[in-house]
Amino acid sequence: MVKIYKVTMRADIVTIFPGFFRGPLEHGITRRACEMGLAQIKIHDLREFTHDRHRTVDDRPFGGGEGMVLKPEPLFECLESLALAAREDRAARRVRQSVVLLSAQGARLNQALAAELAALDRLVLICGRYEGVDERVADFIADREVSIGDYVLSGGEIAAAVIIEAVTRLLPGALGNEASARQESFTAHEVVAASGPDSTCGSGGLLDYPHYTRPADFRGMKVPEVLISGNHDEIRRWRRERALKKTLRNRPDLLQSVPLSAEDTRTLRRLKETEQDS
Ligand code: SAM
Repeated sequence: MVKIYKVTMRADIVTIFPGFFRGPLEHGITRRACEMGLAQIKIHDLREFTHDRHRTVDDRPFGGGEGMVLKPEPLFECLESLALAAREDRAARRVRQSVVLLSAQGARLNQALAAELAALDRLVLICGRYEGVDERVADFIADREVSIGDYVLSGGEIAAAVIIEAVTRLLPGALGNEASARQESFTAHEVVAASGPDSTCGSGGLLDYPHYTRPADFRGMKVPEVLISGNHDEIRRWRRERALKKTLRNRPDLLQSVPLSAEDTRTLRRLKETEQDS
């Protein structure tokens, strides 16, 4: 059966480096989502909204200090040209639109925020540069500031590409197999629980379990026996244990917010004891 999906999202990216996005948008799932009409992504060159001979987008900061700052005029004009809903309506969520300013000072991107953005009809991403963006953009046109991690990049373009990739793969129909997005690392427990018995091995807020493919014996490195046993209950149990193990080792903070079964709690206790002994 052929499934027909409607265009689910339009994204606009505002940047002084429009050519940057040729790579990220022309590969993999993002490209496929656009070709399937699930997403429509437009790049806007901020310099086209300047009015001087040098197409100036930046200026010195008031109060002195290092570097240059992206000026408000081109950004406001660019955003006005996008015919978005009024900011009050966006803030009150009366329309499914959001204007995101990429900023190291923003709320940190995670899977839940990616899912929230993927549910929108319209997403606008503003890429900063230099020392940042005139604060009136954050105060008067952006709905939120988003950071992709606690480090400073030279510009918002890579951050915008990261958001686009995290979001487009969540659009219904973008992944060949709908179940894969539900069973990945960080996927909320409720999403996994709601998706039926096949997903019980899914991570549900934990990190994903390890994956293997052929050959079963590669240079003496063998695939865990259980995975070729054909025993699906055993496989589920093993995957759950390995997801718990990886989360305990690499991201113990996630365990605070994952609902754990009695069996999970026993497994974790055992894993902690084994780790202490080794
Ligand atoms: N002065 C700013 C600060 O200390 O927070 C850093 C500005 S940074 C050099 C220039 C631009 O890169 C920012 O305006 C923002 O758009 C982008 N940027 C830098 N780090 C980022 C991050 N972690 N997440 C998202 N965008 C980032």
